Amino acid sequence: MPEQPAALPTPAPTPDVLVVGAGPVGLALAVDLARRGVAVRVVDTLAAPTTESRAIVVHSRTLDHLQALGVLDAVLERAVVSRGMELYADGRRLAHVGFDGIDAVHPYSVSLLQTDTEAVLTARLAELGVHVERSTTLTALDARDDGVVATVTAPDGTGATIEAAFVVGTDGARSTVRHLLGLRLEGSFAGEDFLLGDVDGDHDYDPSCFHTFFSPGEATGLLFPLPGDRARVFAQLPPGVDPDRPVTVEWLQEALDERGVRLRVREAHWLTRLRLKHGQVPRYRVGRVFLAGDAAHIHSPAGGLGMNTGIHDAVNLGWKLALAVASGRTGALLDSYEAERHPVGADVIALSTRLTRLGTLRNPVAQRVRNLVLHLGLESTSLDERLAARVEQQRVRYAGSPVVAGHGRTVHPGDFLRLPRTQVADALARTPGHLAVVLPRGWPRHLAEGVTELVVTEEDEDALTEATGLTHGGIVVVRPDGYVGLVGDDPKTGVAQYLALLDG
Ligand SMILES: Cc1cc2nc3c(=O)[nH]c(=O)nc-3n(C[C@H](O)[C@H](O)[C@H](O)COP(=O)(O)OP(=O)(O)OC[C@H]3O[C@@H](n4cnc5c(N)ncnc54)[C@H](O)[C@@H]3O)c2cc1C
Repeated sequence: MPEQPAALPTPAPTPDVLVVGAGPVGLALAVDLARRGVAVRVVDTLAAPTTESRAIVVHSRTLDHLQALGVLDAVLERAVVSRGMELYADGRRLAHVGFDGIDAVHPYSVSLLQTDTEAVLTARLAELGVHVERSTTLTALDARDDGVVATVTAPDGTGATIEAAFVVGTDGARSTVRHLLGLRLEGSFAGEDFLLGDVDGDHDYDPSCFHTFFSPGEATGLLFPLPGDRARVFAQLPPGVDPDRPVTVEWLQEALDERGVRLRVREAHWLTRLRLKHGQVPRYRVGRVFLAGDAAHIHSPAGGLGMNTGIHDAVNLGWKLALAVASGRTGALLDSYEAERHPVGADVIALSTRLTRLGTLRNPVAQRVRNLVLHLGLESTSLDERLAARVEQQRVRYAGSPVVAGHGRTVHPGDFLRLPRTQVADALARTPGHLAVVLPRGWPRHLAEGVTELVVTEEDEDALTEATGLTHGGIVVVRPDGYVGLVGDDPKTGVAQYLALLDG
C-alpha cells in the first residue's frame, strides 16, 4: 500500500506543533497530541518507513502508555509476551529474573519489531486524521517569541516554511534540531562492540523469556525470542576486530556457538554491527523547541530502554504542549518537561551503562564473582523483583517535580497510579485530561475547569482506598499522563494550588 495516497487532506499551514521525525517517539507524540485535539504536522526525511527492526522490547510502563494512546491491542496482536530473563553461565542456568512479581498493570514486557511498533502508531495517527509528510527534511529553524518558523526541503532541493507554535525534535541520534539549537550529546562515548542479527532459527529456549549467556568464552551472547521463528541475537565482540569486516551469517553463527547460544540460524533478515555510545543533551527545551527520544539521549541497548524512554518523553510532553496551546502559557508546565525527564534520561544511561559493564566483563575472576553474586542475589533475595521493576521502568516517578503537589500516605505526588481493575483505570484510559478521584460521600463537586471528577462506585472503593490511601474528604488528582499530580486532604485548596503550579 502506498505510504501517502493522493487523496490525503492538505496539512494545516500553521500547525500548533511541528514534530520533526517519524520514528517511534515522534509518532507516539503526534498520536498523543492529535487525540487531544492539537493541530500537529509530522515530517520525516525518509521516503518510506525504515525497514530496520531496531528496538524490539516494549516494557511494562510503556504498555500502560500505549494503552492510553489507543494502540495496546494492536501491539499485543503483533508481539510475544516476555515474562522474565534467564541468565546462563557455562551451559547452566544461573538465575531467573521474573517480571510477574512487579507491581504493574501489565507485569510483563512484549517483544515485536520496531517497524511493527511504528506501523501501529502510524495507523493510529491516520485514524486521527494526521499523515506523515515524507521526503521532507528539516533544514533550518527560526525561533521567535511567539512561534517557530521551520524550513523544510524536498529531495529536489525545493524548500518551504512551516510556522508552528512549538517544534519538537524527535529526529533521532543525529538530530538536526539538536544541532540547530547548538546543543550536543554530552557524556562518555567509549563502548563495546556487538554483532546483531534478526534471524529465523531453531532453538529450545523458552519463548516467553529473554536469555543472556555470560560464558563459556570471554564474551556475552543474548537471545530475544520474537513472533514466529524469529529471534534477535547479540554477540559481544572482543576488542580490535576489524571495523570493516562484513557481517555474515557464518560469522554470526560462529560467534553464537562460541558464546553458548544454541540457536541454528536458518535465515537472516537483518545483520549489523553495533558500537555502543552514551550521551545526553544538557537541555531538553530551548524556548519553543523541545527534544525527545534519541535526539536527547542515546545509550547502550542493554535493558532495551532506548525507544521506551523516548516514548515516555513523548507522553510526558504531549499533554503539557496541549495545555500550553490551549492556554497560551509557556512557563512552568513546559519547563517541567525537562525537570521531570532529564533526570530519568540520566538514570537510564546510568542503568544501561551498569548493565553493559556487568554483562561484558572480560576478566575471568571478575566474571566468576559476578556469576556467583547474580546466582545468590537473584535466586534468594528480592533483588530480582527490584531489578525487574527497574528494567520494566515501573520505578519511574516524578517526586520532587515542580508541578506536583501535596503529601500522600500510600500513593505520593509524582507516582504513576497503578489501578488494574477499577473504574478509575477505565476512566484514565478514556479521559484525556486531568482526573480528580472522589470517593462516594466525599466532598462537594465542581472543583475546577479542566478537571474531570470521577466518583468511584462503592464496589471499587476498597480497591481504590488500598491503592491510594484516599479517605473520604481527601483527593487524588491524576494527570493526563497517568502520574499523580496532587494528593491532599483539602480538595478545594489543594486543586487550586495544584493548578496554580501548572499556570506558573
Ligand atoms: C542497531 C540498533 C539496535 C537497537 N536496539 C534497541 C533495542 O533492542 N531496544 C531499544 O529500546 N532500543 C534499541 N535501539 C535504539 C532505538 O532504536 C531508538 O532508541 C529509537 O529508534 C529512538 O526513536 P526516535 O523516534 O527517538 O528516533 P529514530 O527512530 O531514530 O527516528 C528518527 C526519525 O527522524 C527522521 N529524521 C532525521 N533527521 C531528520 C530531519 N532533518 N528532518 C526530518 N526527519 C528527520 C529519521 O528519518 C527517522 O525516521 C537500537 C538502535 C540501533 C541502531
